[in-house]
Amino acid sequence: MAKYIFVTGGVVSSLGKGIAAASIGFLLESRGFTVTLQKMDPYLNVDPGTMSPFQHGEVFVTDDGAETDLDLGHYERFTHARLTQANNLTSGRVYEQIIYRERRGDYLGKTVQVIPHVTDEIKSWARRVAGDSDIVIVEIGGTVGDIESLPFMEAIRQLRQELGRRNSVHAHVTLVPWIAAAQELKTKPTQHSVKELRAIGIQPDMLICRAERELPDDVKGKIALFCDVGQDAVITAKDVDSVYEVPLVFAGQGVDDAILRFLDLEAQAGPRNLERWTRMVNSLKNPKGQVSIGLVGKYVEYEDSYKSLKEALLHGGLAHGVRTNIEWIEAEGLHWPDCVERLRKFDGILVPGGFGERGIPGMINAIRFAREYKAPYFGICLGMQTMVIEFARNVCGLAEADSTEFRPATPHRVIYKLRELKGVDALGGTMRLGAYPCILGEGTAAHRAYGTREISERHRHRYEFNRDYEEILTRHGLRISGQTPDGVYVEICEAGDHPWYLGCQFHPEFKSKPLEPHPLFRAFIGAAVEYRDRRFAPRRESSEYTMQASHAD
Ligand code: GLN
Repeated sequence: MAKYIFVTGGVVSSLGKGIAAASIGFLLESRGFTVTLQKMDPYLNVDPGTMSPFQHGEVFVTDDGAETDLDLGHYERFTHARLTQANNLTSGRVYEQIIYRERRGDYLGKTVQVIPHVTDEIKSWARRVAGDSDIVIVEIGGTVGDIESLPFMEAIRQLRQELGRRNSVHAHVTLVPWIAAAQELKTKPTQHSVKELRAIGIQPDMLICRAERELPDDVKGKIALFCDVGQDAVITAKDVDSVYEVPLVFAGQGVDDAILRFLDLEAQAGPRNLERWTRMVNSLKNPKGQVSIGLVGKYVEYEDSYKSLKEALLHGGLAHGVRTNIEWIEAEGLHWPDCVERLRKFDGILVPGGFGERGIPGMINAIRFAREYKAPYFGICLGMQTMVIEFARNVCGLAEADSTEFRPATPHRVIYKLRELKGVDALGGTMRLGAYPCILGEGTAAHRAYGTREISERHRHRYEFNRDYEEILTRHGLRISGQTPDGVYVEICEAGDHPWYLGCQFHPEFKSKPLEPHPLFRAFIGAAVEYRDRRFAPRRESSEYTMQASHAD
């Protein structure tokens, strides 16, 4: 039977509960246990797929096509857990199922209530996700005290009773603020937060205290005393430069040992092996150089909307020992030809996924710049679609080429609605979602990057490449380098006479991990490094791409 770790948060949101849960998962894997992680989100959306990335950050997509909370991205990057639909639960999903059953008559004669019906449903999700894992880590979204998180708190309280002693542990993530005026770390918010938990019947076993600075022993002792936890279970989660340092910070304070003690698993645990992870963190902190990538999108004000992408770019840099600096460029501000000056300083340009027409002309200008000035270009999903539009307009002379997403009546529909979605207008969960296989063309840049011809990648889109335009596009030099095995969907396009110019219909960023940088990000950053070196070499053959020392390197 699996053992459970519950992770909740208090005082304020954004304390890094997801990273804490993922780091615990990583440490337990390193001790030889298999883990899985589950996120429970108290909001009423059935899934985050219909929420603006401004509101809730990126929508992370699993292999089986679940549109999930971005914390699942952290879970997958830190551990080997293979996450599915079952790993993210929302109040919306719970109520959807209960109301469906009520209408069907399953509860005939009964009053349907939060306790026991909602709580039972939550508990059954937590139990079902375990599979063969030794340990399940369940993170509850939001902050203790929120009205909407109460049923989840009650469910885990009951579950702990049912699981029995030594089969579950509760870690509460809180804030210990440094008050500059008093020159003191303040424990009161943590005390209040634990009081709130106790009021609903939960006594935490471990407190993970987010703080600007190390908690000294007397502060830890005070928290232990007032909150009734052991002093060795009061952990400082000190602010760090990179989230990948968190497992090492936790290991340094014996978080895994304490958890294994609570769960009575010490005897089965192997020794910690953090060697590869530590090496990765060291190379992250001591890069041999840097590259600068211009990211042209429309959600730039809110970095969480491209969480996995940001991480994948960092991983691509790790593969070459360089730091990837990302500059977010609001697409709406890019006009031709002024954008050339603006974009010249970058070692690579990337247009990420997105929806709707805002910013499209600016993205197309950025892609035109990359193509004409032979700067490495990487287009992801919308970034591949805009790459095809740019190519059709500016290389093939189809001035009105467009996607029907932006201009339904365009005469040249080079990108159009997925054929399988004809007549489907609902927006929730109606995209081409999840992993699909793809075959790569022999000798293409994609093939060189992956080193294999059969791949599988995750999708989230509603529009596709229109193969009626394949002939004219390929005649002008665009190469279709990846497609589904049945030949229906175009998955990757590239241009041959360019150092690195590639767009993919899928989202490779969802599968990149710090210890396994994704092949396309590795190749893209590799091309950016070469491009940087070529431009800064003392003697250049071509003056067209020459740049002056506007670069910080
Ligand atoms: N809006 C485009 C589509 O739906 C691209 C989607 C994306 O970039 N994820 O096909």
